[in-house]
Formats: sequence, C-alpha cells, structure tokens
Amino acid sequence: SSFLQRIDERNEELNALLTVDRDGALNHARYLDSQRERGNARPLSGLVLAVKDNICIRGQQVTAGSKMLANFSSLYDATVIERLREAGAIFIGKANCDEFGMGSSNETSHFGPVRHPHDTEFVPGGSSGGSATAVAAGFCHIALGSDTGGSIRQPSAFCGTVGLKPTYGRVSRSGLVAYASSLDTIGPMARSVEDIATVLNIIAGEDASDSTSAPVDVPDYLEALDVTVGDTVSGLRVGIPKEYFAEGIDPDIDRMVRAQVEALEDDGAVVHEVSLPHTEHGVATYYLLATAEASSNLARYDGIRYGHRASEEDTVEVLQEQRAELKEAKQEAERNGNAQRAERIATQLKDTNSTLDALYTRSRTEGFGEEVKRRIMLGTYVLSEGYYDKYYEKAQRVRTLIRHDFDRAFESCDVLIAPTTPTPPFRLGEKTDDPLSMYLSDVFTVPASLAGVPSLSVPIGRHPSEPNLPVGMQVIGRHFDESLLLQVGQAVE
Ligand code: GLN
Repeated sequence: SSFLQRIDERNEELNALLTVDRDGALNHARYLDSQRERGNARPLSGLVLAVKDNICIRGQQVTAGSKMLANFSSLYDATVIERLREAGAIFIGKANCDEFGMGSSNETSHFGPVRHPHDTEFVPGGSSGGSATAVAAGFCHIALGSDTGGSIRQPSAFCGTVGLKPTYGRVSRSGLVAYASSLDTIGPMARSVEDIATVLNIIAGEDASDSTSAPVDVPDYLEALDVTVGDTVSGLRVGIPKEYFAEGIDPDIDRMVRAQVEALEDDGAVVHEVSLPHTEHGVATYYLLATAEASSNLARYDGIRYGHRASEEDTVEVLQEQRAELKEAKQEAERNGNAQRAERIATQLKDTNSTLDALYTRSRTEGFGEEVKRRIMLGTYVLSEGYYDKYYEKAQRVRTLIRHDFDRAFESCDVLIAPTTPTPPFRLGEKTDDPLSMYLSDVFTVPASLAGVPSLSVPIGRHPSEPNLPVGMQVIGRHFDESLLLQVGQAVE
C-alpha cells in the first residue's frame, strides 16, 4: 500500500510506470500474508518488484516502449517472472523504457520520456530508465531491467541505484523482447547490493527455454555477502583500465571514482593500472552488431503476426493513389521520349503490385519510432551484400579483440573498476537531435557487454556541480564471478 501511495503521488510526473497492477498486487500480497500465517512463507514473500515493459508477465501488456506493441499482451511469463513469482514476489507494474531498449535517456519511448527522480529537468538514463526511477522514487523494492549495452548500469548510475548486468547466459532471456540477442541480459536494479543478491539468487541459472543460458552452477549470492569488508578487500587485485580515465571524462567523476579506489587501497587492495587497448572501438563495434541483430529480430513485426497493423482500407487507398500518380508520370515520360525515366517508373510500379507488401510497410512505418527505424536501416545496411565483410564481419573480429582485452586484464587482476558513465545525467532534449553523441555516452558500458562479462554499477555519491544528481562506478569481473562483484559492491557501499 505504501508503494501504491507513492506511485499515486509521483508517477504522473515521472512517467516511470506505464501500468500499475493495483488490484493484482494487493490481492497477491494478501494471499502471501495468509500463506505466511499458515507457515508457508516463501523466500521472497512480499518483495515488491517493478518490471521493465520488455519482459513478459502473463496477461499483462508488454509494449517494449513501442507503438508497435501498444496493444499486445503476453501469453506467458518470462522465466525470470515465473521463478520470482514462485518465490513469492509481487509485481506492482510495468516500467517505461526506450523503444525496444534502444536509447540511453528513456526519450525514445512511444509513451513519453521518464523524468529523473531527483530533478525532473534531467533524464534518468536508459533504456531501463523507468525501472531505475521506480526504485529511486520508492515505487517498489527492486526492479528488473535489461542491459544490452548499458541499459541497467547507466540508468542506475544516473539515478543512484545499484544495478547488475549479469554475465551473458547467467540469467534466462526467455520472455524478454529481443533487441540484440548476443548481448541481451536481464538483471536487477535496487537500493542495495543485498537486494541485488536476493533477486539474483532466484533468477540465475540454466533454463531449458533459453539455449544460451549457461549450465553453470549458481552459488548462494547472499551467503557470498556474509564476509567482512576486510576479507573482501585485503589482497584484492584491482585493475584500473587507463582508457576509461582518458580525455572526455567529467573531471569530478574521474576524481570520485579514484577516491573510491584509494579507499579500497587503504583497506588492503592491490591496485594497478591496466590497458584495454580496443576500448576506443567499443561504441562503433557495438552499434554495428546491435543494429545488425536488431534488424533481424525486429523483422517479425510485420503487422500480421504481431502488433500494430495499419488500416487495410487506407493502405489500399494510398496504394491506388500511388499507382495512379506513377502511371501518369510514366505516360508523361514516354510522351517526352525519356525512355530511361519511364523504365525507372515501371520498376517502381511493380513495387506497388502487392497490397501485402504495402501493408507491411505501412504497419512498420506507423508502428516504429525514428530511432528504431534508424537502427533497422543501419543494421540492414551492414548485413547487406558487399558490406557484410566490410562492417559486420569486421565488427565481429573487433568484438573478439575486445574480449581478449578483458581476458588479458583478468590474468593480473580480480576486478576492474571504472566510471559507469563519462558524464553526469544530461538534460531532457539535450541529445535527442544528435544520435551520435547519445551513442557516445555508452562508451564505458558497451565493452563489458561485447565481452559478455558481468558488471555492477554502484552509487558513489552526488555530483558536486549538480548536488541532486548521483554518480555511479562500475565493478567489472570475470565471467560468472558475480559473487565477487557483489562483495566489492558491498565494500564500497
Ligand atoms: N544505449 C544502448 C543502446 O541504445 C544500450 C541499450 C541497452 O542496453 N538496451 O543500444
């Protein structure tokens, strides 16, 4: 009830939750209470979660922030939802997000931007901006987000929450609306490291319905937190990747992260600089691969099988108009003896032969927002004949180099520490006209995604120039070493 009250007070202004399952949540809470009275308490009894609206909850909408799916509801629970429900979690609502996870500010959502919980002039980050805001504004205990290239970590840093992008394959993606399948992960966002461990305990582990979920044992992450800071930090080998502290980083963020590293050093950590030499190619590599995969994943939205369908009558009408215009233009070209032009128009006319094709086109034109279209076009281009080798395949090779960078670094250190973002939160609208500068804001989060390694963003204080705005720090680890990341996160907390 207290969460619902806070939602009533602030959700309209913040736009963090797209739906609130008031009755469902209250009924479920009462049911869990009665179960508990009978001695049937479950491990998460009463834990209240908000869920990013690209994760399926049976019978509820799953829009992925898109008009394309505005009227679509899930036929089944995502595996993470199934497991959490079984453990006694309550789902209070679906969180706003960038359209299909594509964005770093939560401004590409068809349902309007989310506002920063501590200063509404600013963006909360994205694409899981609704999830981060829901946690920071006290709408829930914990939220689920998804992270393809930073979407859990960056909004966590911006909003002052803790956020974990698990190892690729650690948590099942079944029931997550696909963006870039080789990078997509689901993870928790919360107010404390302990809350992250609590949820990870339930959602981690192999799943028969996601073939990329890994058959790797799941440790007890809460038990892992049962250590003293001294035990965690003494002798811990911390690598400072020098490429993450280079030109372009906000000097206050640089200083704040270094201060944390010094504090760890004082507690006995062994700190040394390392190099991840291919970092500078991270953003380019990520945006080639992610858009290529997205162009393929989003091909399913054709207006026939899923989602938004353009009006068939309108489509036929527009098609007829187009044909009439083209025919006229062709006749004119013929009259003027311009054979080449007439031939070109004849080809265009052929393209208008299929009402079905036109319906696909119109449905996609209407259903997708600008950023999604930009990425489908870029992705289709880099996969096309003649460009595949030049861009897509090359990006795959660089991805391998980036992974090797991390492998090499982890030979001499246990964790890497770096800022989560190069700048504090920016203002709403500041980067919407400049996609490239938006993409560049992912510079510190995409490398871990490309390498598939886990990364935890923890809040390390407020930014001196904008005292309402938090700053986050990333702890990056070896594949499946989430326990250590959580321990280090706890030490920083
Ligand atoms: N900002 C990145 C993008 O737009 C990351 C998004 C994500 O992790 N889903 O692709």
